Amino acid sequence: MTEVRLNRLTKIYSGGKPAVDSITLDIPSGQFVSLLGPSGCGKTTTLKMLAGFEDVTSGEIAFDGEDVGRVPAEDRDIGMVFQNYALFPHMTVQQNLAFGLEMRKVSKAEIKRRVQATLEMVQLDHLADRYPAQLSGGQQQRVAIGRALTIEPRILLLDEPLANLDAKLREEMRVFIRDLQKRVGITTVYVTHDQAEAMTMSDLVVVMFDGHIAQAGAPREIYETPKTAKVAGFVGQVNLIEAPMDPATPGHAATPFGPVPVTAPGVGETVTLALRPEAIDIAPAGVPGTPATIERVQYSGAIVDYTLRFADGTAMEVKTIPRHPFATGDAVSLSVDLARFRQLEREY
Ligand code: ATP
Repeated sequence: MTEVRLNRLTKIYSGGKPAVDSITLDIPSGQFVSLLGPSGCGKTTTLKMLAGFEDVTSGEIAFDGEDVGRVPAEDRDIGMVFQNYALFPHMTVQQNLAFGLEMRKVSKAEIKRRVQATLEMVQLDHLADRYPAQLSGGQQQRVAIGRALTIEPRILLLDEPLANLDAKLREEMRVFIRDLQKRVGITTVYVTHDQAEAMTMSDLVVVMFDGHIAQAGAPREIYETPKTAKVAGFVGQVNLIEAPMDPATPGHAATPFGPVPVTAPGVGETVTLALRPEAIDIAPAGVPGTPATIERVQYSGAIVDYTLRFADGTAMEVKTIPRHPFATGDAVSLSVDLARFRQLEREY
């Protein structure tokens, strides 16, 4: 197992602004880490520098304390999986799996043993003699993952490996990859722009914007205590409330649900609060709470999304299991555990 450290890692492609801008990150050995962010935020560039496919402009990459920034890709002992699988089309599944080992001059008997073990690991032993074109997308991706793992690399890197699969298969593959990673115990860096993938699979989620790490933490930490509105919004739906200080309650901001304790801003300034849509309870009018009117209902089976409007004209999203059949125009009463509010940092 390998621990990975990035220290002020920076990449500037010729003449441009930094694609990766001085990122520092510790990845404990055996962890599954996702780099999550919108297109162009520098995820792939970070992964390519880890793999040795892109030069580092400045900063360090260390595997178990050893600086590998100048070590060529082929000597870094990396297993890599791409979005488009990148299998060898003229080789069978078995031959694809054996390729990396043959390149490394591993003995025939050992290749046979490891290929068989990998076939079982990625559940493809029954398809060993097929060619990639004769496999489904999910099966091809399993071959690609197997091929990355047969060489027993120090680190597994995956770049949007599920992007070409349909929604149902993507969900199955999330579980498959995570289970496999846990069994093998390999340090894994996974690039995605899909927050559900990052949240469900990872020990550590690293949210990136514009070449910077906006926040890194366990999925629950990122979701429940986002630092900024951008992070909050990227990992789920969020109600953002620009709240003035409550003149009647020192140290508290005024919200439609009552005063919320905050770190006071400057004189005359507001604070930004985040509240997840599922933190709000919705009940028929008459139940004690904050009155609002239902403006829109989006029913999707297991959950319902409501858009609600308060008397002062502000709107809020509420997500709940469908208990009452509320309809557009209904008057309702809302309540919330005030501890669910999060004060956000200002973004400049
Ligand atoms: P995506 O999800 O679209 O792959 P990403 O977050 O992985 O996005 P990168 O591919 O790392 O982002 O790109 C980061 C920035 O660097 C972008 O502005 C991109 O245009 C730029 N970039 C990437 N590769 C090169 C290159 N070879 N030459 C010049 N600029 C590049």
